[in-house]
Amino acid sequence: MRWRDERQSENIEDRRDMSGGKIAIGGLGGVVVLILALIFGADPRQILEQLPQPEDGAQTSRAVNPEEEEVKKFVAVVLAQTEDAWGDIFRQMGRQYHKPKLVLFNDRVQSGCGIAASATGPFYCPQDEKLYIDLSFFRELRTRFRAPGDFAIGYVVAHEVGHHVQKQLGMMDRVNAARRRGREDGANGASVRLELQADFLAGVWAHSVQSRGIVENGDAEEALAAASAVGDDRLQRESQGYAVPDSFTHGTSAQRARWFLKGMDTGDMRQGDTFSASEL
Ligand SMILES: [Zn+2]
Repeated sequence: MRWRDERQSENIEDRRDMSGGKIAIGGLGGVVVLILALIFGADPRQILEQLPQPEDGAQTSRAVNPEEEEVKKFVAVVLAQTEDAWGDIFRQMGRQYHKPKLVLFNDRVQSGCGIAASATGPFYCPQDEKLYIDLSFFRELRTRFRAPGDFAIGYVVAHEVGHHVQKQLGMMDRVNAARRRGREDGANGASVRLELQADFLAGVWAHSVQSRGIVENGDAEEALAAASAVGDDRLQRESQGYAVPDSFTHGTSAQRARWFLKGMDTGDMRQGDTFSASEL
């Protein structure tokens, strides 16, 4: 994708250095803060954030990785593209799109859906309406899952944004209702349909980018490779026992690629009703 001149979203919440900062002001100071936080019922992290950050030590112990900074910029571009695309589509539906926040983290993170570790992969938390991504996942996507390229990264971000779109359009409620009726499981269950629809919605992002003429040869293939790589039949997500909402079954590689392509080809929301589709 020719993305250098593209707008970068301001809705990135970079929490990558928080663990390092905490270590640096640990010891007695950290304990005092924690006790004060307990006494006053405040969130210790908020207090820790307000403390002056050390000039060296933890700050420099986590060296800036130029490659990761580049990926961060690209992720911010994709997020901005989804904001524009969904803003337009929601307006056409007579609705207002509320932009989600995207949290970058290392190792583990406290989300509105519980503590999550990097090993669980990128996810969306409907409770706080935020996307959570450890940028090291994209290195894994490139090496372990052999899905390199910027459009592979774009697909992952756009898929998680797709879940946010589903939340706003009430699709998550449909899945919860199906779950109450005990019909969420299996290859044709509501959870799989939700995931495949998020792939379709990622395709709608790709369609909007394509229509602006900045897509390059091979981009679509990169996204399809990523969609295939993270299908249930290729990837068994490592369960760490944490509460993570995006740990449902996702459909097969072929299904994921097909729904993404359908969204990219049509850009038409009416084509993306995976819940009514007789064949997935
Ligand atoms: Zn998902």
